[in-house]
Amino acid sequence: MGMVMPISSLEPLHCDVLVVGSGAAALTAALVTSAAGLSTLIVEKAKYLGGTTAWSGAAIWVPANHHAAAAGLDDNTDDALAYVAAAAPSGWAATEAPLWRAFVQQAPRMLAFVEAHTRLRMALTTQADPLATLPGARMVGRMLSPLALPRRLAGRFRHLIQPARPWHLFTFQEMLACDPLRRPIRAGICHAPRLLWRLLTGARAQGTALVVGLLRGCLDQDCQVLLNTPACALIIQDGVVQGAVVRQKGRMRPVIARRGVILASGGFEWDPSRRERHFPGMPCLIASPESNTGDAHRMVEAVGGQLARMDQANWSPGIPTGDAGDLSAMSVYFHQDPAAILVDRAGRRFVDEGDFNLGALLVRPAETGEGPEHLPAWCIADRGLLHRAPLLRWFARRRRSWITCAATIPALATRIGLPKASLDETVARYNDACRTGIDALFGRAAKGVPGMAPIGPRHVVALPLIPTFVSTKGGPRTTDRGQVVDTTGVPIPGLFCCGVAMANPIGSRAVGAGTTIGPNMTWGYICGRSLVDG
Ligand SMILES: Cc1cc2nc3c(=O)[nH]c(=O)nc-3n(C[C@H](O)[C@H](O)[C@H](O)COP(=O)(O)OP(=O)(O)OC[C@H]3O[C@@H](n4cnc5c(N)ncnc54)[C@H](O)[C@@H]3O)c2cc1C
Repeated sequence: MGMVMPISSLEPLHCDVLVVGSGAAALTAALVTSAAGLSTLIVEKAKYLGGTTAWSGAAIWVPANHHAAAAGLDDNTDDALAYVAAAAPSGWAATEAPLWRAFVQQAPRMLAFVEAHTRLRMALTTQADPLATLPGARMVGRMLSPLALPRRLAGRFRHLIQPARPWHLFTFQEMLACDPLRRPIRAGICHAPRLLWRLLTGARAQGTALVVGLLRGCLDQDCQVLLNTPACALIIQDGVVQGAVVRQKGRMRPVIARRGVILASGGFEWDPSRRERHFPGMPCLIASPESNTGDAHRMVEAVGGQLARMDQANWSPGIPTGDAGDLSAMSVYFHQDPAAILVDRAGRRFVDEGDFNLGALLVRPAETGEGPEHLPAWCIADRGLLHRAPLLRWFARRRRSWITCAATIPALATRIGLPKASLDETVARYNDACRTGIDALFGRAAKGVPGMAPIGPRHVVALPLIPTFVSTKGGPRTTDRGQVVDTTGVPIPGLFCCGVAMANPIGSRAVGAGTTIGPNMTWGYICGRSLVDG
């Protein structure tokens, strides 16, 4: 048997399916295989379950879903396919079209399956597809998020789910409706009875609910779960993956998986060398757990698998938290305030600040080839932003150097090294647009989020807008059944990959607010089904 690592004397573990990771992709895959009667072992490297998923808002993009149908909203997989195809970078159809088709066909089935096999209950959100002018887009009906669930459903794991910050007391739908990050008191009063009930019962929403619900479903189907147990290498014999070597308490242990291995170990953003190779020179922060170090990528390379789309990532703005060193951050759209704009190194606005795909735009390379076109970028705001955004204020206190304050715009420009005249003119022009209610430059909406309100002229602040990895989106190239392929494109028997670990067929530009978790769960579902169906 070809092993990539030496093995100590620990007895092998046996199962039908080994699932690596415990985020939404992994748990959905494990739910499918265990519900079909296959003995399923989930190994998680970290001391907590749930990965980035547990920290997330759990907004889930699932086109043509049964909730939309029940609400009488028109949608279908053909339109969803047209939308995904229209949003894709040019040339991607040649390799990704079969995966787009598999995704739009299986996503509604995945959602129905998850609700039928867990206590998760989803509800639609009010969000539109962000690329609303593309063919097949919908103004509502594709975005969902779970209702709150008590943590105690996770049984012995109830205190072992990645602790979310903020605490997921509000559902995603409530976040959209009353914006507790900016108006905590009003939001608290609005939802007081529900919040009290959640505090008393330990119920939580968003990513915590998603992980609790999926995990409970897996435990009900007798899945085994091991924490602090990283998969380190694949076991391969005669070209067929037979399992993996895991590390338990510092000792190696083989896991023999009779049907196959599903890799769902997240992105490679915490692997400095791979990050530098695929995002050279990019200033960045990272908003995922530190355990996402691209282990699937390494394991797949070691058995001759193919990696693809390695320059793709889910980006957002972020606030440095310093939790796990200088790079660790919280993914927050802190700049979305009426009295805030984004400017580039020339002191000019470059985007509608409400643009959902801001992250991908921030890292877009300049045509000259000299790094990202808009970096370094800054959020220039009225000082009142710090008061309107308590979360920002909290982190600003912990990292004072992150925020630059000044009495006037020219003084601020000097402090952060932007051309004074240019920044002054940009702010004046934006303030004029606030008076007329028309942003002729980028069409920013005067109402809604972020809205428009004048900045300054006195007491202004600047915050660097550093691209923040939510996750990388490149990895093992797979077939439309989730099978990992080798460098010649031939599937490696017994090896599957899903979630942000896989080569993502959609890429950096999001087609919906939940365009990572919806597809991640769907690819988990597809991998699980492929193993069940053989
Ligand atoms: C604050 C925040 C809000 C977000 N909100 C949304 C949202 O509303 N909608 C949306 O679509 N996306 C959102 N995202 C992004 C989304 O959470 C992630 O893209 C998604 O959850 C990734 O899922 P995954 O299952 O692929 O990986 P993860 O959830 O990251 O899970 C990977 C797991 O694998 C484990 N692992 C790594 N290596 C090994 C190994 N060798 N052995 C065993 N285990 C291993 C990791 O420890 C981790 O637990 C958000 C992200 C953040 C940070």
